[in-house]
Amino acid sequence: MAIRQIRLKDDPILRKKSREVEVIDDRIRQIVEDMFETMYENEGIGLACVQVGILKRIVVIDMRDDDGKIVLINPKIIDQSEEKQIDMEGCLSIPNERGYVERPKSVTVEYTDLDGNTQTKTVTDYKAHCFCHELDHLDGVLYTDKVLNLTKEEIEKLENEK
Ligand SMILES: [Zn+2]
Repeated sequence: MAIRQIRLKDDPILRKKSREVEVIDDRIRQIVEDMFETMYENEGIGLACVQVGILKRIVVIDMRDDDGKIVLINPKIIDQSEEKQIDMEGCLSIPNERGYVERPKSVTVEYTDLDGNTQTKTVTDYKAHCFCHELDHLDGVLYTDKVLNLTKEEIEKLENEK
């Protein structure tokens, strides 16, 4: 296992579209292990493969909840709620910054797991935020592209609703 270097926001690779994983072999399993190790080292809850400089459609997530470690290979959103939610996001590629982003309240993702099986998973609330954020990375999109310009009053209202 190895901790890999996280690419930071001005690195042009973060703007590239990642490619589908065709075969899940030892190399892919090694990349996934390294991604988890890198994410834990940096105290993140999610990491996309492009953030360690590899343009593959792989995402790892661990929100320290009952789901534990989640590996999403070739994920795509197949359904999402019309209801939206606004919450604060950060990104390991953009240290020391945060911003409010609007995302669907709930999304259903179809993906391949590490054993090569097709799975679907529906996530809600902040986990839906996290899934959408990481999936955006696979298409070269950063949360800062979507960040809302909220007034102080709007932010206070949001925080009071939690
Ligand atoms: Zn990110």
